[in-house]
Amino acid sequence: MLELEEAQSRILAATKSLPSELIELHDAHGRIFAEQIVSTIDLPPFDNSAMDGYAVQSKDLVSATGMSPVSLRIIGTIPAGKSFSAKINSGECVRIFTGSPLPAGTDAVAMQEDTRPDARGPNYISFLDSVKPWENIRFRGEDVKIGSTLAEAGNRLNVGHLSLLGATGVQSLRVGRQPIVGILATGSELREANQPLAAGEIYESNRIALAALVRKIGGIPKIYPLVPDTLAETKTSLETAFNECDAVITTGGVSVGEFDFVKTAFTRFGGKLDFWKVSIKPGKPFVFGQLREKFLFGLPGNPVSALVTFIALAAPALARMQGAKNFSWPSSTGVLLDPLENSGDRRHFVRVSVDLKGNVRSAGTQASHILSGLAKANGLAEVPPTTLLHAGTVVSILQLS
Ligand code: AMP
Ligand code: MG
Repeated sequence: MLELEEAQSRILAATKSLPSELIELHDAHGRIFAEQIVSTIDLPPFDNSAMDGYAVQSKDLVSATGMSPVSLRIIGTIPAGKSFSAKINSGECVRIFTGSPLPAGTDAVAMQEDTRPDARGPNYISFLDSVKPWENIRFRGEDVKIGSTLAEAGNRLNVGHLSLLGATGVQSLRVGRQPIVGILATGSELREANQPLAAGEIYESNRIALAALVRKIGGIPKIYPLVPDTLAETKTSLETAFNECDAVITTGGVSVGEFDFVKTAFTRFGGKLDFWKVSIKPGKPFVFGQLREKFLFGLPGNPVSALVTFIALAAPALARMQGAKNFSWPSSTGVLLDPLENSGDRRHFVRVSVDLKGNVRSAGTQASHILSGLAKANGLAEVPPTTLLHAGTVVSILQLS
């Protein structure tokens, strides 16, 4: 039996990034940068005001107080988006707004709140307070300098990147291509939701859940029809999926039963296989296969086992195919409200519910076919083999949502 880390590193060693593609920034949220992005401008692009107020020479206002205001002549107004060409001299000021460029000759912006109308008329304003040199000014390039790095290859583009890249004028960029991931469910007992159930049959539920997880990490799921347990049909379905997709996920049919055809079918059209029993619970049997640059992730059929093995073993590889560096499944930490015991010899991913304060409770019965607890759970807590974690222990939680 293989340790999880060993299985993960073998899979990652085999997977490579798909070629990158050029896309619009508008469509890039969540995608993986395929190359470093460097700013072509300073940000802000010019010195500008951080306040609505008046651009002044700070030395003019050194003595200004509420008791003894200083009066300056207003020689113009700079609305946002406009600039002001005249140079300001001592005794003068310019009406300015947040984001407006600082006029030449001024070195501070006095806040509007520190002024009042002037008895000399509308072309004058009284200042009730002094300002320090460069107060209320945002400097050209203080946020981003031209030529500095905005993003590194291999990182995921977040909302902040959208703001930063938008503000620096990036319109399109290269990102890793999203793998098309075929999802097949094998099992002659499986039926679609709109079919009646005969004796011994069940509704299929893995493809829909796996498709959501594939989307969550940036893949494009492609769901295939149910595959009955025959070698011929398993081979035809797998071959079709391999022709149409970059990676294929199957569920079921990877154990050692005489109706488990995934492994044999895959090798029949040239796939190379690794079959492992990975030391995790739920989810022992797992197939990793390669057909040229494409990959097979053969997950166990039990719905909970399928999700756990997807998260632990398939997700990092699908992220790597998009060019992700240092991928890890979204996780958090929490504190156990009750003890969690794992008396077995495999690492147990226990379905738990975590509240907003980080309190962690078991989500109920943990057998790998029990789905009611899965629906209550919003995380998987990792309990090492033969370990009793006491209440109060801090545990790491893989997010399930
Ligand atoms: P298998 O891995 O094919 O031996 O299946 C293990 C268990 O999971 C059996 O009880 C199957 O009926 C069930 N199972 C397999 N595939 C699915 C599926 N796609 N949806 C729901 N249950 C499944
Ligand atoms: Mg089966």
